Amino acid sequence: MDGSVHVVSHPLVQHKLTLMRRRETAPPEFRVLMRDMGTLLLYEATRDLPLHDVEIETPLVRAPAPTLATADICLVPILRAGLGMVESMLDLIPFAQVAHIGIYRDPKTLDAIEYYFKAPANLSACHTFIIDPMLATGHSAVAAVRRLKQSSVSQLTVICLLAAPAGIALLQAEHPDVPIYTASIDAQLDGHAYIVPGLGDAGDRLFGTG
Ligand code: URA
Repeated sequence: MDGSVHVVSHPLVQHKLTLMRRRETAPPEFRVLMRDMGTLLLYEATRDLPLHDVEIETPLVRAPAPTLATADICLVPILRAGLGMVESMLDLIPFAQVAHIGIYRDPKTLDAIEYYFKAPANLSACHTFIIDPMLATGHSAVAAVRRLKQSSVSQLTVICLLAAPAGIALLQAEHPDVPIYTASIDAQLDGHAYIVPGLGDAGDRLFGTG
């Protein structure tokens, strides 16, 4: 797979994203919208998963029918904001496994520091979907991809709500093989590395900690 950027322009995605951006959208509604976005973005990001035919019996006949070729699918939310999309993604792919990765941004250097990693034993066999809602500087996503590659993962996709040009550029420079799915590429970062126009701090808006 190549590191192409897919902007999901579906009207429902764009409408819900606008609701999420609004200052007055409070955590209960923000959480529901984040869940919806998880479903819609994962639907797009799984478009190229391979299928194979199995024989099934319908109430009428035996017939070949397509199913996913592998059950080795792993969702990788980056804590904390990634948690907002993982539950609805599990509703869509109930047999998926989940690897949690905790990364925080050093407020001075903006470097990505890993503080937690817990993954299933079969991680290296999985098609992994990294959930990083805000691809701002790109440092967290780059660190998460590097961590998964160190664990011999070869199939990786990054899913984010919003991306900044700088984050996309860094991720593509460091990991040109990794496709990115996002609902929007926003204009820029501000001096604190927040995405502008953006939606603020996604974790704070999810969990009411702002
Ligand atoms: N993380 C956020 O939650 N929001 C931003 O705008 C950038 C990083």
